[in-house]
Amino acid sequence: MQLFSSKFKLGILGGGQLGKMLLYDAKRYDLHTKVMDSNKQAPCAKIADEFIVGDITNYQDVIDFGNKVDIITVEIEKINTEALLDLEKKGKKVYPSAKTLQIIQNKSDQKDFYKNNNLPTSGFKNYSNLDELKQSFKKDNFQFPFVWKSSKFGYDGKGVKIIKNQEDLNFSYDDQCLVEEIVLIEKELSVIVSRNVQGNIKCFPIVEMEFNDNSNLVEYVMCPANISSDVRKKAVEIAVKTAEKFNMVGLLAVELFLTKQGDILINEVAPRPHNSGHHTIECCMTSQFDQHLRSILDLPLGETELIIPGIMVNLVGENMIEGNVIYQNINDIFDIPGVFVHIYGKKKSRLNRKMGHITIANKDIDKAIEIGKKIKKKIKVIS
Ligand code: ADP
Repeated sequence: MQLFSSKFKLGILGGGQLGKMLLYDAKRYDLHTKVMDSNKQAPCAKIADEFIVGDITNYQDVIDFGNKVDIITVEIEKINTEALLDLEKKGKKVYPSAKTLQIIQNKSDQKDFYKNNNLPTSGFKNYSNLDELKQSFKKDNFQFPFVWKSSKFGYDGKGVKIIKNQEDLNFSYDDQCLVEEIVLIEKELSVIVSRNVQGNIKCFPIVEMEFNDNSNLVEYVMCPANISSDVRKKAVEIAVKTAEKFNMVGLLAVELFLTKQGDILINEVAPRPHNSGHHTIECCMTSQFDQHLRSILDLPLGETELIIPGIMVNLVGENMIEGNVIYQNINDIFDIPGVFVHIYGKKKSRLNRKMGHITIANKDIDKAIEIGKKIKKKIKVIS
C-alpha cells in the first residue's frame, strides 16, 4: 500500500508531547494521522489530521478508533489492551503488540518476563497486595532498605518508595505490588532500540540520565554517556536481547542501572518514543520519532549515529496549584549557540508536569552540560 500522500491512515493512541513530536515527522512524510486522547486540548490536537476526543482506556473507544485506521501505535502505555487484542485478531496491525503492552503495563509481569527470559534485573518478589507482603515479609527475608513498587500505573517515580524500616510499610494499598532489592546505582542509562517489521535492529547511542532527587523525574539526559566501551557493549547486548524477546516492532527504550560493582541490570522498558531520546531530534542522523515511524511502517531503519553531543533538559511545572503557564526567562536563552527550545503546548502548568524541553548541542559534551545546568536554573515554569 502506498503510505505517502494517500488514503493510508496512521492511528496514534495518546495525544501528549511524544505524539506531537511523532506527528512532526509524520507530517514531513505527508502521512495521514488520526489521534485519540481524552483531553481536547492535548498537544496533538492542533497538529493531527484528525483528532478524536475519546478514552484510550475504554474498550469500545479503542475498538471504534482502531477500526478506522490502518496501523495503530501508541505514545503512552496505559491503553485498553483487550481492545487491541481483539483488533489484532481481526488482522489490524498494532505496534507495539497488545501482548507486549500488557506485560509492560504491569511491573510484576515485567519483572517475571526478565526472569523467565534470563535478562538481568534486580532481585524481586511479587505480592497480590500490601497485607500479603507484610505477612510473608519475615519469611521472605528482605533486608532493609528495599524498594517497594506498585505493579500498575506507576510513572515518573509515582508508586515507588524506599522502605527503610517496618514503619515505612504503614500505608494503605490494596492492589498488586512488588519488592525489589535496592541497587547501588553508579549511573542510570538508557538504550533506545529500534526494530522494524522485518526484524532489523538499530540502537541509538547510549545516554546517561540524571534524576531530580525530590520528584524522581528525569532532569537531564546526556549523550554520549560517560561509560567505558565494555559497559557500552554489555548495555547494547542486553537492550537488543530484550527487544528481541519482546518481538518488538517499533522503539523499545530500555532503562538500565549500571551498578557500583559494574553490572548492568534492567530497571524497566517503554515500548514507544521516550523522554531519554528527545535529543536525537537535533543530535542524531535520524530522530527517535522518525525511526519509530520507519520501524512500524516496514521501512528501512535510519542511521542512528551521533552528529553532535548534547544534553536534554526537561522543563517541568514548579507550582503546586494548576494555572496558566508562564515560561519565565525563556526569551533570554535563544542567543546561546546550540540551544533548541521545545514547548509542548499544554496551557496549564502544575507541579512536575512535563511542559517542554531544551536540547543543548555542543561539540564538547562538558560544555553542553555546563550550559544545560545554567539554563535549568534560569528558566522557571510557573503558573
Ligand atoms: P517509574 O516507572 O515511576 O519511572 P521506576 O521503577 O523507574 O519508576 O523507579 C524510579 C526511580 O527509582 C529509578 O529511576 C531509580 O532512580 C529508583 N529505583 C527504582 N528501582 C530501584 C532499585 N531496585 N534500587 C534502587 N533504586 C531504584
